[in-house]
Amino acid sequence: MKKIYLDNNATTCVDEKVLEAMLPFLKENYANPSSMYEPARISAHAIEKARLQVADFLGVQDSKQILFTSCGTESANTAIKGVVAQFGNLETKNHIITTRVEHPCVLSVYENLEKKGYKISYIGVDENGDLDIESLLSKVTEKTILASVMHANNETGAIYPAEKIASEIKKINKNTKIFTDGVQAAGKIPIKLENTNIDFYSISGHKFHAPKGIGALYVKKGNLFEPFMLGGHQENSLRAGTYNTPYIVALGEAAKLASDALPYELSEVKRLRDKLENGILSQLGNAKLNSKAKNRVPNTTNIGFEYIEGELILLYLNELGIYASSGSACTSGSLDPSHVLRAQKVPFTSLHGSIRFSLSRFTTEDDIDYTIEKVPEVIKRLAKISPFQKELNELGL
Ligand code: PLP
Repeated sequence: MKKIYLDNNATTCVDEKVLEAMLPFLKENYANPSSMYEPARISAHAIEKARLQVADFLGVQDSKQILFTSCGTESANTAIKGVVAQFGNLETKNHIITTRVEHPCVLSVYENLEKKGYKISYIGVDENGDLDIESLLSKVTEKTILASVMHANNETGAIYPAEKIASEIKKINKNTKIFTDGVQAAGKIPIKLENTNIDFYSISGHKFHAPKGIGALYVKKGNLFEPFMLGGHQENSLRAGTYNTPYIVALGEAAKLASDALPYELSEVKRLRDKLENGILSQLGNAKLNSKAKNRVPNTTNIGFEYIEGELILLYLNELGIYASSGSACTSGSLDPSHVLRAQKVPFTSLHGSIRFSLSRFTTEDDIDYTIEKVPEVIKRLAKISPFQKELNELGL
């Protein structure tokens, strides 16, 4: 049976070249890079090379601004909790701004801070998924210690103008720290953090062909935060814990490969994504595009199938070897409809039948042709057993 993986926003396959680069550090060169002997120096050198590769990937000159973490979730927690622990004060510095469409690894931290007495302003999006920037800026006050707006949304692929938002916020309150969740932007669009007003920026290796369990946080020079991993002096005492050399090497290699592949991502991957999207929308009267933001990453589309249950679509597609998702991997397992699509006011008729297809540079033309053929077949089969026969008939099914 074919296996067509269209869930690359959940995670990606490890690139063979990444595996090759990391293997020596799992096998013969396992020395702890903090030790003094020759193999340790080789490990330490490999870590600093990876730091340079990640700095290059994020468009920053000084690689000391890159901190290795275990994942995107840790990077976000480090930035948010670290800033609040450093600067927060429940009387005078108690306000944070974010959006309704952030990933759960950001929203859950804010829910927790709210319980502790911090005030959080949640900014909405319009029905296309674009952010209400005016409303966001109107919320900035002297008490705003932190603002965080993701760079690209994991469910719809919407891109938010991270740098513009950061600089506008700083004009109102230069002391407000800016955290940007860049997990879904990295490897999909160019990133250049040098000379921007972004203070913290998170990435996660497994979204761009490194293994799971490695991430990074850019911390702009001069920014203080209270570390939450305490222990040894690794990462300048900002993130204790023995260096994960093989995975750090993998992240560096994956970052380099992703930089090299960016032109392909922006042209070919986008062409395949558009072909898939148009191929599905043109065949089904009940298919509605949810990914409608002005700018979006090249690999993602989210399509709502009116009057059809999303979980059933996924099960039927799975039978055909097509792997997609109905939202964030972190919210699947819950029957609540996506908070991102709800924020976008996607009508309830397609809210429960919305499917995200996310491609990678390893997606082939054959994969897309097969999916364009099979998705309409599945929807038509499910339409026959839907209780909404009249509505579906009117839509041509
Ligand atoms: N931020 C976004 C936008 C994501 O999509 C994800 C993962 O899906 C994360 C953060 C969390 O990253 P990780 O899985 O590395 O913890």
